Amino acid sequence: MPTHKPAHAPAPPPTLTTRHLLARYGRFTALDGVDLDIPPGRITALVGPNGAGKSTLFHCLAGTVRPARGRVLFGGRDITRLSAHTRTRLGIARTFQQLAVFPSLTVADNVRVGAEQGRIADPGAVERALRLFGLDGPVRALPAAGLPTGTLRRVELARALAGGPRVLLLDEPAAGLDTAEAAALARVLKALAADGTALLVVEHDLDLVADLADVVHVMAAGRIIASGPPGRVLDALAAREATP
Ligand code: ADP
Ligand code: MG
Repeated sequence: MPTHKPAHAPAPPPTLTTRHLLARYGRFTALDGVDLDIPPGRITALVGPNGAGKSTLFHCLAGTVRPARGRVLFGGRDITRLSAHTRTRLGIARTFQQLAVFPSLTVADNVRVGAEQGRIADPGAVERALRLFGLDGPVRALPAAGLPTGTLRRVELARALAGGPRVLLLDEPAAGLDTAEAAALARVLKALAADGTALLVVEHDLDLVADLADVVHVMAAGRIIASGPPGRVLDALAAREATP
């Protein structure tokens, strides 16, 4: 079959996908047949009670948990067996639920580490990431140790972004942020999605999810039990919880 796509057309940004994903800890099944799509240019949110399997799914996407069955695909390529490090190189960046910055490095050096581990080595990307998260002032030269949580969250995000990712995986990015900081975070994440980045946000704060997400998936007991736009899904969730 001839294709009609011109040879110079850029490849479309890849979608990160799971198919029939099953993960176990010993005999306990933490994920039980999860199909998820994280498309470019969209903010996909994952919500659900503690123990639902959100972090396990997140780890399967990032490459830090190996599923027992099923596949993880990136732009159609099977990456199920690839290491976390290799996935970062392909453009799948993440932040950590527990902050994981290097305490003795300065803010700017923490962000530089992200650029070195990422998909593209672009020195300009470090400055852009620092600016985007308001870290380009005097704070850039301070060691990360001792900085407030809100600042460290921004350092983590800037570090993930400095490598030019196509997918950003965020586990509870608003944890420890005040209302103003969470609103600022939401603005930046929306701008990243508008630029074509695919975002997955695991988040407790349903108000933030309602403001942020294009699509919400609700997890319970290792399965996705509802999916759709936030208005519809979060209302259904509230109605369920109101029913005794
Ligand atoms: P969530 O992020 O939605 O709170 P998790 O993915 O962290 O859920 O956990 C899902 C289930 O798997 C929980 O019952 C949890 O206790 C269990 N679990 C998570 N990590 C481990 C582990 N390393 N070993 C054993 N059980 C685990
Ligand atoms: Mg979790």
